[in-house]
Amino acid sequence: MIRAVVFDLDGTIYFGQTVADYARETVSGLATRGVAVRFCSNITRAGRATVGKKMRGMGFDVADEHIYTSSEAVVRYALTAGLRRVYAVGGEEFRQLIAAAGITVTDDCREAQAALVAMPSQPTWQLIEDLMVVAGRNRPIVACNRDPVYPVEGGRLKPGLGTFLAAAETACGRPVDRVVGKPSPDMLGYIAADCRVGPAEMLMVGDLLTSDVAAARAFGCRSAWVSREHSHEPDYIISDLRQILAIVEGMG
Ligand SMILES: [Mg+2]
Repeated sequence: MIRAVVFDLDGTIYFGQTVADYARETVSGLATRGVAVRFCSNITRAGRATVGKKMRGMGFDVADEHIYTSSEAVVRYALTAGLRRVYAVGGEEFRQLIAAAGITVTDDCREAQAALVAMPSQPTWQLIEDLMVVAGRNRPIVACNRDPVYPVEGGRLKPGLGTFLAAAETACGRPVDRVVGKPSPDMLGYIAADCRVGPAEMLMVGDLLTSDVAAARAFGCRSAWVSREHSHEPDYIISDLRQILAIVEGMG
């Protein structure tokens, strides 16, 4: 029995400022049926309070604490890992989220216990040099997500945090230590713990196979892929080549 449904946001519940068809009635229909509804986004430029305000403005009856962003997930991870003093890459709202959790944000990368990395408002070589210092001291680097690009208004794409991380990793000579955003199962784990449900009682709904569906698979819950691009959909999805024989025979 499904007791919690987790929706991805951009590309699933809304597109920028436009609400997806049937999103509001589906969310309220689940709530009416007593199913917990949660939202899970790799966004790093805003926290749950900002996203919640936007969604309420769109007509969703949603509480801030039901929204999970990868920036809040990084902070939660940092608390669990016992980090108290960190170097932060990211916008002002990200730094505020870290400070609000009682973790000190230091601008001196040499004295930080770890680096927490969100999408910087202005990616620079200086930021990468600072991460090299953290890596050189064998301190962990924890990132919000590894998305190569992210969507903005009008369907355009911009370079995402994954692009910045690739440059930083090249300079550091090693991968970052942990990425908490999807396709990592970390956020789904937090949601399951907060809702007190197990993976078998959760369904993840999203538009990206490599992010939403992959996270669900890594966590062990079921997933639904919202595929609106019918023009690119195959007629058959097979898991092994013998099924071609059955398809051809079935077509007569
Ligand atoms: Mg999406």
